[in-house]
Amino acid sequence: MKRKCIFCKIYNNEIPAKVVYKDKKFIAFYDIKPLAPVHILVVPKKHIDSLNELKNKEKGLIGELFLVIKKIVKKMNLINKGYKVVINVGKGGGQIIYHLHFHLLGGWRSNEEREEGEMP
Ligand code: 5GP
Ligand code: ZN
Repeated sequence: MKRKCIFCKIYNNEIPAKVVYKDKKFIAFYDIKPLAPVHILVVPKKHIDSLNELKNKEKGLIGELFLVIKKIVKKMNLINKGYKVVINVGKGGGQIIYHLHFHLLGGWRSNEEREEGEMP
C-alpha cells in the first residue's frame, strides 16, 4: 500500500465510500463525481500506479477483475442495457488517482426508452 493513496485507504476502510462490492482482492464503489447515472470504480487491492506499470505476473489478476466487473454489471441490472468500461492512463489520459482502476459507466436510457426529441 502507498501510504497516501486514496484508493488504498478506501480498501482499508480508512476513508468512507459507497461500496458495492468487496472481496480479498478487489473493491468497487461509487465515484464521488459521477459522469453517468451509474458510475462505479472497480479497483484491485494491490497498488499498481497505472496500466503502464502492469506486469506479466498480474495478468491473472486483471482477468479476475473483469469477472468482478461482470458481477457488478449484473447486480446493477446493466447486462442487457449496455455500459462502458474505461481506464484513464497518465496526465494526457485524464488520470487523477495513480492506483489502477476501471470506470464502469452506464444507466443511460436507450433510444427506445426516450421520448421523441428528448436528449439522452
Ligand atoms: P481517474 O481520472 O484517475 O481515472 O479517476 C479517478 C476518479 O476517482 C474520478 O472520477 C474521481 O471523481 C474519483 N474520486 C476521487 N477521489 C475520490 C474519493 O475520495 N472517493 C470516491 N468515491 N471517488 C473519488
Ligand atoms: Zn493505492
